Amino acid sequence: MTYEPNLLRTPGGATPPAAGPAALRRANLSLVLRELRDHDSLSRADIADATGLHRATVSNLMAELLERRLVREVGVEHVGAIGRPRRAVALHGAHVGALGLEINVDYIAVHGTDLSGRVLVERRVAFDAMGSGTERAVRRLGLVAKEAAEAMERARAVPAGIAVAVPGLVDVARGVVTLAPNLYWHDLPLADELTSMLRPLDVPVRVDNDANLSALAEFTSGVAAGTPDLVYLTGEVGVGGGIISGGRLLCGADGYSGEVGHLRVDPNGDQCGCGRVGCWETKVGLAALVRAAMPEQAYGLPGMPVPDPDERVADIARGLSSGDRRMTQAVAQVGQWLGLGGSILANLFNPRVIVIGGYFASLAQWLLPHAQDQLNRLVVAGSGAQCRFVASTLGFGAASRGAASMVVDQIINDPTSILDSLPRPAVH
Ligand SMILES: [Zn+2]
Repeated sequence: MTYEPNLLRTPGGATPPAAGPAALRRANLSLVLRELRDHDSLSRADIADATGLHRATVSNLMAELLERRLVREVGVEHVGAIGRPRRAVALHGAHVGALGLEINVDYIAVHGTDLSGRVLVERRVAFDAMGSGTERAVRRLGLVAKEAAEAMERARAVPAGIAVAVPGLVDVARGVVTLAPNLYWHDLPLADELTSMLRPLDVPVRVDNDANLSALAEFTSGVAAGTPDLVYLTGEVGVGGGIISGGRLLCGADGYSGEVGHLRVDPNGDQCGCGRVGCWETKVGLAALVRAAMPEQAYGLPGMPVPDPDERVADIARGLSSGDRRMTQAVAQVGQWLGLGGSILANLFNPRVIVIGGYFASLAQWLLPHAQDQLNRLVVAGSGAQCRFVASTLGFGAASRGAASMVVDQIINDPTSILDSLPRPAVH
């Protein structure tokens, strides 16, 4: 099975042309599947019109996809006043699984779908990844992946690919976590380790940054789904981002793009966890908000237990609801810095929407008015840019959901990678 780690960098349409009939077949199958993914159902004539492929070619491709059950007939539709009947097809692939995983500081999340996006497995396992040490954490992640793959097989879908979301810098091409500071991981060859733990299951394992994958989940199924130019921001103690531009996730040369938390916004500011000074996350990260809103509970005070971040956010939300003055000022300040950083991203990428996740989403009703005001003031295109902040509704599972949709995307980019290994079904 071939594995192309950077498929998402290829254009949304066809795989780049390469010589030979095999490449042409791959590109054409991909075109047809992509059209079907973007619509509930289409006739062969619709697909020919949309792709520019000859109708006979579409019929041939469709015969192969039907035989391999990657598409299914969905009956006869009547079009127009004359009611001319046409047979429509839809994406199927109920036997092809896409497994997404996310490991974070205190949990592992699983999201497994079939090719059409139907959810087969979804769970969240509480796990102290921060305190467990690298070896135990990787072993646990492998175990959870194995159990999820078995559950998918019981649902008659064999995983065709696995993607793992990690909170840190990931060398995507090699599947190596370069640095995940909150997990204390560095230079960890996670893709290779999981691959060997999952044997005899032989599927490509991809590793990517959690905010990048959350951005992909927002694009495929979030509050701004289908918006081809969007920026996703996640607010935790650290601040991460992912950028969808022209319907594609921007990865950068090494997969390191989206490290927006370390944009320098204040040269005279505080020291950041990364060792630099004045990074955006020192202004809008959860630690900055807690320090301003309830300084007696600030992160890093000697003798203070590390409380659950969700509890801190809930405390602040309660204070804001009851009109606490200090908290109101703190959240206004953070909101303004959020808008300032957002304006840098809007000037760079001209997104239609900036989706905010993590604690930003929990406090959106208080943060967003300040952030939006500041954004409108600082974006050079002014209100012409029509960029608005919106709160994510996906919750904790966003990155694992994005990981699964990345696997689906890889299969659709190169369907021959699974077609040639799928058994031809004896009965339909
Ligand atoms: Zn920094």
